[in-house]
Amino acid sequence: MSNPDTRKGSCHCGGVAFEVRSDVPDVTFCHCVDCRKTTGHFHAAVGIKEKNFKLTKDETLKWYASSENVRRGFCERCGGNLFYQREGNETSYIAVQAGMFDVPTGLTGGRHIFVGEKSDYYEIGDDLPKVDRW
Ligand SMILES: [Zn+2]
Ligand SMILES: [Zn+2]
Repeated sequence: MSNPDTRKGSCHCGGVAFEVRSDVPDVTFCHCVDCRKTTGHFHAAVGIKEKNFKLTKDETLKWYASSENVRRGFCERCGGNLFYQREGNETSYIAVQAGMFDVPTGLTGGRHIFVGEKSDYYEIGDDLPKVDRW
């Protein structure tokens, strides 16, 4: 966990912007095929409780259902991939892509998940925990 200051972030063009007011957990790196095909590499995101999350601009926000009960939020103008959300999740979390936060983010790497589905052109070169699912 890192400091509780408000963190801000946005997509590249600024059409989608948000604020997070809480501690933020470590970054989860997901190597699954759905994350690869929607982000272009692997997904690096932090799960935020919705009550601590505020969308401050959603002018260009679109949602894509990447699998049953999962939707991903992206900017229709710059193509930035911002959010991941499980629908019907009573704990109401939204995962926010770590690269969308303005620096200094105060974020740190946590763990790698779905490592069995990673692509073949890179190796995971750090010492963070690695799990086959999540
Ligand atoms: Zn954008
Ligand atoms: Zn994934």
